[in-house]
Amino acid sequence: MNTPAPAVEARQLIKTYPGDVTALSGMDVTVEPGTVFGLLGPNGAGKSTTVKILTTLARPDSGTATVAGHDVLRHPDRVRRAIGVVAQKSGADPVATGRENLQLQGRLYGLRGAALRRRVDELLARFHLADAAGRQVKGYSGGMQRRLDVALGLVHRPEVLFLDEPTTGLDPEARTAMWDEITRLAGDEGLTILLTTHYLEEADRLAERIAIVDRGRVVVEGTPDALKGELRGDAVHMELREAVGDSGRTSLKDSLSALPGVHEVLFDGRRISVRAEDGAAAVPALLGALERVGVGVAAATVARPSLDDVYLRYAGRRYADAEAAADSAESTESTENLALAGGA
Ligand code: ADP
Repeated sequence: MNTPAPAVEARQLIKTYPGDVTALSGMDVTVEPGTVFGLLGPNGAGKSTTVKILTTLARPDSGTATVAGHDVLRHPDRVRRAIGVVAQKSGADPVATGRENLQLQGRLYGLRGAALRRRVDELLARFHLADAAGRQVKGYSGGMQRRLDVALGLVHRPEVLFLDEPTTGLDPEARTAMWDEITRLAGDEGLTILLTTHYLEEADRLAERIAIVDRGRVVVEGTPDALKGELRGDAVHMELREAVGDSGRTSLKDSLSALPGVHEVLFDGRRISVRAEDGAAAVPALLGALERVGVGVAAATVARPSLDDVYLRYAGRRYADAEAAADSAESTESTENLALAGGA
């Protein structure tokens, strides 16, 4: 049997922005048709840049990509007809009504008359916007606007739908509703969805396969269950009273790894994380070993493997720390921008 051609295939994408910012450093992505694929990574990892290239809004410095079988550089027009894009920033006209937005989008794709009306009604009903169809979009709640954005992306029945951070900025209730919508869409015949997210839980819930992106490339890929399953046993995290110096780490690592049922020992600032076959059973031995060498422990927690642990293992830092680092880099950038603006 022939395996179907991938719906999305990107090979070794490299993209540098002015100022020597490396956004992509060899990005590989393969998405099988009819599946939901999640690009998961902290802010600044390169997810949006990947989506921009795949949706023909940006060109890579090098590398190749096809979407729905069309080369993004050679046949961008064909790619655009085959895809729907829901960008982070809404494309809807706030002073037009929901219905008008959908009608305009439909016309852009050549729909007219009864076919256009049917498609618009279908989408309004499907995304629970029929009652609000005649209201201006600026009066919609965040969740309603987001649902309209997705409907707009689907007007022309694309083969591949790109959802860039579909739930960022939504309250928890609207986020759960959006997750249900995406799950329903995924059941649609043949639709392939590539979504980007920085929410671990979102990727875990929605995507059949996940690629974890860090610093412009994929560090590991697989189904959420397989990725978590690779990490045998439980995670035990211990918060130390003070950080251990480099020299102490090596011997500590050796002595902790030697404990029965303990596999991996990772240091991360004042935190030590280990894998243990039975986390609760390992804690007393771990605490005892640390106490013998005079390392004080402020807190210890045991957890089943999560995508957070997968990220730590492959990216070498905790997800929350990567997010915090990205956020502080961003705020430095905006301060610089302000300084530039002020100086101009
Ligand atoms: P993500 O979507 O994962 O948050 P992005 O693809 O937006 O990541 O960004 C990757 C890197 O490229 C970041 O360091 C970001 O600051 C930088 N970057 C993105 N867009 C631009 C741009 N237009 N100009 C300069 N740098 C950019």
